[in-house]
Amino acid sequence: MNETIRLYDDAPYETEFDAQVLSVLPGSREGTADVVLDRTLFFPEEGGQTPDCGTMEGMTVEDVQIRNGVITHTVLTGDGELFAEGSTVHGRIDWEHRFGNMQNHTGEHILSGLLHNIYGYENVGFRLSDNTVTLDTSGQLDDEQILDLERRANRVVFANVPVICEYPDPAALAAMEYRSKKDVGPNVRVVTIEGVDRCACCAPHVRRTGEVGLIRVIDVLHTRKDMRLTIVCGERAIGDLQKKAQQLREISHMTNLPQERAADGVRHFQEEIAGLKEKIRAMQQRYADMRLQEILAQAGDNGLKDCWVFEDELDPAVQRHFMNRLLEHPFRYVGVFAGSDTDGWNYVIGSRSQDSGIPGRLLKEQFGARGGGKPVMIQGSVKAAESDLMAAFGELS
Ligand SMILES: [Zn+2]
Repeated sequence: MNETIRLYDDAPYETEFDAQVLSVLPGSREGTADVVLDRTLFFPEEGGQTPDCGTMEGMTVEDVQIRNGVITHTVLTGDGELFAEGSTVHGRIDWEHRFGNMQNHTGEHILSGLLHNIYGYENVGFRLSDNTVTLDTSGQLDDEQILDLERRANRVVFANVPVICEYPDPAALAAMEYRSKKDVGPNVRVVTIEGVDRCACCAPHVRRTGEVGLIRVIDVLHTRKDMRLTIVCGERAIGDLQKKAQQLREISHMTNLPQERAADGVRHFQEEIAGLKEKIRAMQQRYADMRLQEILAQAGDNGLKDCWVFEDELDPAVQRHFMNRLLEHPFRYVGVFAGSDTDGWNYVIGSRSQDSGIPGRLLKEQFGARGGGKPVMIQGSVKAAESDLMAAFGELS
């Protein structure tokens, strides 16, 4: 089959077209058809970029793929009739999605060009999703260098430099220096942003850099030698800013601080919470020591062998402290349970003379408890009523 004529090459701003149907085959899923046309405005998934979306004769085009130059459109036909081969169809691409991709893609060229010119870094990976672009570079930058890069990239936007897409003849191409992502075919399409970048690329771009609107680096991930930048441009960058600005406004209200200092407010909360936790721990420890005196007095009167304590809330460190203090006295088994009948209990069980695994196994067998440990101490969790647990412990010989 002949290669599909790529209308988007020369007419990236067109949104509607008519074309002749060359072939229609059932798609891989029910209710879909794979359609090949003689020409198309639909940019296929290629070079790391997601395909255009839109409609064909009013039906949704959900995927566009290219193979050996032939572009296949997967159309959601539902129960509708398939197009006849040889007929003419009307296609319409989703302009908002396309233009967002053009803004993001051109913004990526500007950043990659600057990274190459200033630092000599190569673009070693590129992925344009429906929202953001990830860009892998062959070297790393620190935070200040990234801010500087972002400023410079936006100055290229303000300068409104022409973006030229062309297929140079072989002689002209041979004399050209350009960045090349992967091995490119015989017809090399070269995209030039004057004074900034020249790169082999097949995708639609904006006419002038001013149309990119805004370039933002929203995330940086350092790998061992490389760096992955996540960027977002144009209208998608505005959407991203609006979402984040809303979060910042909320944090600012919650912390009662101006937006510029909202993080200080969150830090203050974290410190306050850490301080409160420490206070609670100290109070619980004092409480545990007082409970211990009570328990020892009662146990002495009743001559108890084992000691089981149930409390609704205890810090894990206090729980272990409680158990260790109980182990200083001549009980056979001691256990401290924190929680409730409805939510279940976290427990520690210890013994100085016996194997704590014995009551531990009883908890597992009768109540499906989780946990384990060494003979001197086990810990875990169990969901059961305090009265049932006490009844079971009463049977320990
Ligand atoms: Zn490109």
